[in-house]
Amino acid sequence: MSWERNIVLKSSAEIEIMQQAGHINALALEEVRKNIRPGITTGELDSLAEQVIRDNHGQPAFLDYPGPYPYPATINASINEELVHGLPGKRALKEGDIFSVDCGTIFEGFVGDSAFTVAIGDVSDEAQKLLEVTEKSLEIGIAQMRSGNHVGDVSSAIQTFVEKNGFHVPREYSGHGVGRKMHEGPQVPNYGLAGRGLVLSPGLTIALEPMVLVGTARTRVLEDQWTVTSADGSLTAHFEHSVAVTDGDPLILTQ
Ligand code: MG
Ligand code: MG
Repeated sequence: MSWERNIVLKSSAEIEIMQQAGHINALALEEVRKNIRPGITTGELDSLAEQVIRDNHGQPAFLDYPGPYPYPATINASINEELVHGLPGKRALKEGDIFSVDCGTIFEGFVGDSAFTVAIGDVSDEAQKLLEVTEKSLEIGIAQMRSGNHVGDVSSAIQTFVEKNGFHVPREYSGHGVGRKMHEGPQVPNYGLAGRGLVLSPGLTIALEPMVLVGTARTRVLEDQWTVTSADGSLTAHFEHSVAVTDGDPLILTQ
């Protein structure tokens, strides 16, 4: 698809609906977060997220999403070296894992998309640092989402912070515009050059999603054709918010 031809600016009324979609998505993620513990399966967490979305009159945005085969679940459940797009199922979480949950909700025709990664009990110092750096890189990226800045300012801020901390960003997976479709333009990579790319303007809504890998920027896709892992098996993390560019401060839609 052509990302740059698929950019849609939203009215303030549309952004209000996107906040509602984003809020339902946040409720679903919060329900997942509350129930994360050693022994619970990713499939059980998936059902909890779906229930919250449907109870709030939304629809899971990931379910049946086109890909190698239609995506079969409400959340992406990615453990340890799994970066994104992990399939929920019978696997149980255990102490020492780090677990990424990505979820999307459609409400009144608009999508909210966000993700977080969390430690299950005690984890290594490296894992803890990875979580902190990835979450902070999202905050740093969002701070650059101001009218007049370039996409490259956002990308560069994320890359610079992550690499300064000794970690890596993938090249194959990026943030993206979000709205009536889950994936709209522009593409917002987690690497790039300041001052380059599209100029951000009010009404642009972007799902910003730093993905960070400990050992390498390279990724691979598992035989299930969805799950993306680090190529070297090292730990990975992922945080995401859908955010609107405004006349002033960036507006986080998924909280
Ligand atoms: Mg997402
Ligand atoms: Mg996304």
